[in-house]
Amino acid sequence: MIFPLVLSCLSWILIHAQVHDDIVECNEKIINQSQLNAMNINEQETFATTILHEYNLNLTTLAYITSSSEFESQLYLNDTNRRRTMEKYYEVYRNCLKSIATVARRFNKLITNENSSLYWLLQRTQAIGDAGENDPLIKLRLQKLKSHIKEIYHRKFIWNNTKLGIDEAQELLGKLNSPADLLSLWNATYEVAAPMRDYYSTLIAVQHEQAKQNRTNEKSDTPANLEERRIVEQLWQELKPLHELIHAYIRKQIARLYPGLIEFDQPIPVHLTKDLFGLMMTHLERDVLPFSHISGIDLGPAMKRKNFTEEEIFRYADEFFVSLNLTRAPDSFWNLSVFKRIPNHHMACHPTAFDLYKYDDVRIRMCTSITSRDFYIVHHEMGHIQHYLQYHQQPFWFRRSPHGAFSEGIGDAIALATMSPAHLKRIGLLENYKFTKEENIQFLLSQALTRLFLPPYAYALDIWRWSVYNGSIQPFEYNKRYWDLICRYQGMKPGMPRNERYFDAGTKLHVAFDLSYIKYFLAHVFQFQIFDVLCREAGYEGPLHLCDLHGSKAAGRKLKILLGLGSSKSWEDILEEFAGVRTFSAQPCLKYFQPLREYLEELVANDQLQVGWKCQSNRSSRKQFQMNFVGYIVILYSMFYFLLE
Ligand SMILES: [Zn+2]
Repeated sequence: MIFPLVLSCLSWILIHAQVHDDIVECNEKIINQSQLNAMNINEQETFATTILHEYNLNLTTLAYITSSSEFESQLYLNDTNRRRTMEKYYEVYRNCLKSIATVARRFNKLITNENSSLYWLLQRTQAIGDAGENDPLIKLRLQKLKSHIKEIYHRKFIWNNTKLGIDEAQELLGKLNSPADLLSLWNATYEVAAPMRDYYSTLIAVQHEQAKQNRTNEKSDTPANLEERRIVEQLWQELKPLHELIHAYIRKQIARLYPGLIEFDQPIPVHLTKDLFGLMMTHLERDVLPFSHISGIDLGPAMKRKNFTEEEIFRYADEFFVSLNLTRAPDSFWNLSVFKRIPNHHMACHPTAFDLYKYDDVRIRMCTSITSRDFYIVHHEMGHIQHYLQYHQQPFWFRRSPHGAFSEGIGDAIALATMSPAHLKRIGLLENYKFTKEENIQFLLSQALTRLFLPPYAYALDIWRWSVYNGSIQPFEYNKRYWDLICRYQGMKPGMPRNERYFDAGTKLHVAFDLSYIKYFLAHVFQFQIFDVLCREAGYEGPLHLCDLHGSKAAGRKLKILLGLGSSKSWEDILEEFAGVRTFSAQPCLKYFQPLREYLEELVANDQLQVGWKCQSNRSSRKQFQMNFVGYIVILYSMFYFLLE
């Protein structure tokens, strides 16, 4: 029953979107609290449902206008008008989120009663809405700082007569062979981020101010984050021995490739991995695999032989989902996505999947190249798309992943299936594979190069960021402490000395754009857990790395549980429904790589492999700063004393 409360509007927001001709009104409703308090819980539920339904429609339309504007503005980075329009839409969208959070908070009886059917909904609504809160002045400052840092990230530089952005540099780095060229391009790319340094430290200071005003914890220290860090640390302890073995193997092979540039008790110079961050070493693959008489699985040449286009890789990924009885990407996806770089055009190239929230409008923007690396990334992005399509019937506030590791892990789990030798044989991208022990080791090493170096990088990067947020890393030591962590967790080092003029963490998009990265760590563990569950559901019993899920309706039904619920339940509840457990586990990942681990342990036992690395002490820069500071004080004091004399 709906009580005759007076619902008037505090503010009317009218949006005239020229492009889409949509007009949206997002009203903040005044609710009479004493009348609300007089309602019983059922009456409150009915009342709240009606109000939230209206907001759902408004937010869906607003999100559509905002995200289509964002999609466009990323295709035209030089167009300031498009950027301004997008920022305007974002503002209105955030205000609407803020209104709904305020309204949701009024239903405090429902919020505190865990048995009410709207409990979880109101929790979610508030969480989404809180993102729209904050002092307008601080918000404006933050917005300006963030867009300045983004602008620096997208700046082009000239290397070897070629104009490049950070995204493009990665592609070129993979094609180079000479160590001098690798180092020179790596260094030129890291130079881009140096001017971010002061803006970034100001951004952190303003965020502190905001946290103080809102009386909230620093971003790094909320109870949920602390619990997540505990889980990450535990998973890392389980993965570390395997990572160290593979690290030792790669170091040995790089030393063979570049004699004299590697020491066997030292970290690997990161530029020699042919990856800007040493987190995905697919470009090294053909140079470091162990058995030279066996040709590895290099999908690039195989796809080129078969005249694959960029779009076709996406079609293959889509077909795989359809074979599991999941949803085919709609026509609009194929018409509106951008699958390759638009020539002579300054556009964002970082692979991104968009949910535009209206109907089933989903899109991808990616500057795809026909390589193994991009075959994998396409599946990752199509995992996001399938997730959007599965939960698109949910109301607006549940149309998101319940945990970053879910959305990031789904496509990766499917890529484990589509990149298995059994599946590649089926689609004609792999010939003459006999499933011998040596071939399997070769295959597992290539999988390890793609997937096992990200977790230590992600962990190091986010420990750096958490420490910056909570003040235990100060601006004067940003770079030193970054490389200390990279050494400790990843076993890598810069190819040339770095100092505090640089801002090397900012070369990574997720630092420049202030986005959390630890979800990728969890996703890299979780993808094996998803894959293991799906293979069991499909009735597969062989070694995990050879499981091909193609055509399994049973696996598809299981995957729907993970995808279709969106965030309508907590991630732990959804995980329990899907896997029968309530937390992430590293065991399926260890099971997948077990044959490789045994092979590498044999090399260690035969003295063919040296494991581990040494890092220098990480306190020198702080001490040096303190010494300098004391020095300055002494000099100033003497000058002052001299003047008084
Ligand atoms: Zn992703």
